[in-house]
Amino acid sequence: MAEFPKLPPSGINVIIVGAGFAGLTAAIECHRKGHHVTLFDKSAELGPLGDIISFGQNSSRFFDKWPGVREALDPIVHKSDEFHFHDWLGKFVTTQSFAEEHREWGPRVNGHRGEIHQILLRHAQAWGIDIRLGRNIVDYFESDDEAGVEDVDGHRFTADLVISAEGVRSRGRKLVLGFEDKPQPSGYAVFRTWYPSGELLKNEKTRHLVANGDSHNGWIGQDVHFLAAAIKDGREMSWVCTHRDTGGIEESWQFPGKKEDVLRVLEGWDPVVLELVKATPPDRLFDYKLVFRDPLPTFTSPKARTVLIGDAAHPFLPTSIQGASQAMEDGVVLASCLDKAGKGKVQEAVKVWQHIRYERVHRIQATGVTTREQWHKADWNAIWQNPESMHLQREPWILNFDSEADAYESYDAVRDQLLASNAAT
Ligand SMILES: Cc1cc2nc3c(=O)[nH]c(=O)nc-3n(C[C@H](O)[C@H](O)[C@H](O)COP(=O)(O)OP(=O)(O)OC[C@H]3O[C@@H](n4cnc5c(N)ncnc54)[C@H](O)[C@@H]3O)c2cc1C
Repeated sequence: MAEFPKLPPSGINVIIVGAGFAGLTAAIECHRKGHHVTLFDKSAELGPLGDIISFGQNSSRFFDKWPGVREALDPIVHKSDEFHFHDWLGKFVTTQSFAEEHREWGPRVNGHRGEIHQILLRHAQAWGIDIRLGRNIVDYFESDDEAGVEDVDGHRFTADLVISAEGVRSRGRKLVLGFEDKPQPSGYAVFRTWYPSGELLKNEKTRHLVANGDSHNGWIGQDVHFLAAAIKDGREMSWVCTHRDTGGIEESWQFPGKKEDVLRVLEGWDPVVLELVKATPPDRLFDYKLVFRDPLPTFTSPKARTVLIGDAAHPFLPTSIQGASQAMEDGVVLASCLDKAGKGKVQEAVKVWQHIRYERVHRIQATGVTTREQWHKADWNAIWQNPESMHLQREPWILNFDSEADAYESYDAVRDQLLASNAAT
């Protein structure tokens, strides 16, 4: 494993709860900036769970800062530069090319969540980060001088700062908000899967999707869309189908899906899509209800010793394609702010961090709804006149953005602004 260059010790102790992409990134970046990290996750083993996940250029750039990670990712990530749109009956609409943005802004990283996560985890462990698995954190506490957590066995741990990165069901939210809130159903759910593509290669309706390496296709219908990615030189297939769902909320990634339910949603659709569903091994199909939360008034606790990051602070709809990226930006910016502030000013760093992150995160979160509506409520007459109106918005302010450099550049001005309004003290 390549050596990991890091700054001299800052003396700042950080506890992180949750080793998803938010917590792992925060841990790696805090370690890189010289802060001392202890990372807890409730799972005894972090297996390669999930299916397709995307990292825009705003987050994939971090992989380059972590020695050996980009090389380890390369064999497993999606390689196609094009996305082909069809209507629900299979009529071709338009192709969106990402080649230019890859040239100008760097590569995106799309791949299997669990595989990418395992690569980061293995690197973080090898770099000597203290990662303690099988530690279910059940309580948070803080004073003016420190913050801490308690695990299910009653062990207490304290630090200068606690970062709650526990995903949508974070217990840290209670300390930050002062009350317990519940996620709301968004009115939508996603059927999702990932499976070897051998059967698709034998089927004349689906062969073209997997026979020539990686491919990426989408079918758009009334309040439903279906996206299919062939990956690893076409040897594996992942598809997701977002549709209306008015049922209650199940937040487990292990919630099994039923092929007959998917086929009911897609009745009358392009036979190519139906074959992709029929070829899905039943034990690999999941039904994930998308949750929604109103934007929080704050990500930081009253004493500014505990913060929420990633999905704990702001769950994203998949149509933003930014959930994991924003989770990573949270951790990178926080580690940078702590570096700027130093051990004696952890609370100042937290307040500046929140100010830097708050508006950007919420503006990007809103794009999840706009993209979904652009597809689900499409005016097909207008689309046939202008097929490119179906393209994903690829906005430079979101994607061509270095949140680490921005944090260092804007820190002093934000701190001065907060001091002038008495909010940084
Ligand atoms: C198992 C799993 C599979 C997923 N699969 C996909 C996918 O296929 N595609 C996709 O787009 N997104 C997927 N996601 C969601 C996606 O990873 C997140 O939306 C995004 O990356 C933000 O990450 P996060 O770190 O904020 O939260 P998460 O990824 O949810 O990570 C939270 C972590 O906190 C840990 N944790 C929770 N409670 C406690 C506690 N009390 N004590 C200690 N640790 C705790 C969890 O074990 C988990 O490792 C998945 C998430 C998980 C946990």
